[in-house]
Amino acid sequence: MSVRFRPPAPAARRRSAQSPATEVHGSWLALRSSHQPTPLIRAAASRRALLTATAGAVAATACGAGPARSATPLTIVVAGGHPGDPEYGCGGTVARYTEQGHKVVLLYLNRGEALSDGEAGCSERDPQQGSAVRVREALAACDILGATPVFAGQCNGHAVVDPPHYQAFAELLRDLKPDVVFNQWPIDNHPDHRALSNLTYEAWIRMGRTPALYYYEVSNGEDTLMFPPSDYVDISMTEPRKRQACYAHASQTPERFYALQSDVARFRGIEAGFPQAEAFVRHVRSRPGLLP
Ligand SMILES: [Zn+2]
Repeated sequence: MSVRFRPPAPAARRRSAQSPATEVHGSWLALRSSHQPTPLIRAAASRRALLTATAGAVAATACGAGPARSATPLTIVVAGGHPGDPEYGCGGTVARYTEQGHKVVLLYLNRGEALSDGEAGCSERDPQQGSAVRVREALAACDILGATPVFAGQCNGHAVVDPPHYQAFAELLRDLKPDVVFNQWPIDNHPDHRALSNLTYEAWIRMGRTPALYYYEVSNGEDTLMFPPSDYVDISMTEPRKRQACYAHASQTPERFYALQSDVARFRGIEAGFPQAEAFVRHVRSRPGLLP
């Protein structure tokens, strides 16, 4: 999310109204009625069980009852166009991962620079460098979620997708050695989000499609459009940490954007049978079973 770019005619805030979930054993081949939440809940339980087995977790621990430390932690990368996008779209899921002992990196395409910061501030990748307010907010948000910030060094509002930037982003993502990658949904009103989605997808292909790949939604209607979830994560217990992380982005009117995201979380919860949920689209070629 970002308040620095606005389309010519901003859409009114509205509740997400998506098509029914379309997962059948990980594919989108058949529609599943939203009046049939039970299989989705079972699928979520199955995914948790598989994640536990895959990561060698020592015990199945209810979310919020204490972290289930894993013997072999996964590395999760959540890519986003701006500081705040990963937190708003995946903050509850990130908190679940870190509570279970997994490593999470929030990979921001840019540092949310104001135009007055100039080009010089764009290329800095070290999260400890620079004093821009949005960098400080991102560091605070990551600290709340137990995640590590990484900046890809592009400029806010001036995302570039060309062969050199494909290569640079692919090398950056490869070096993070992710087991799971979360990407922004490509149908989005913000050009930085579309660019980030394209760069991440190309990087995933160049990695041999090895990491699991999920897409997330953010600021539906304002940014994400036409998002058809295949998978859900119960964030009912981690929502307070997500909220705190999102409100760390104090310069970005969190009272407005978090209200919208809360509507989405409650709606996704209705779909999946949880009080609040985050929804994802799993790539059809992605391995399943690595959601928390
Ligand atoms: Zn954004």
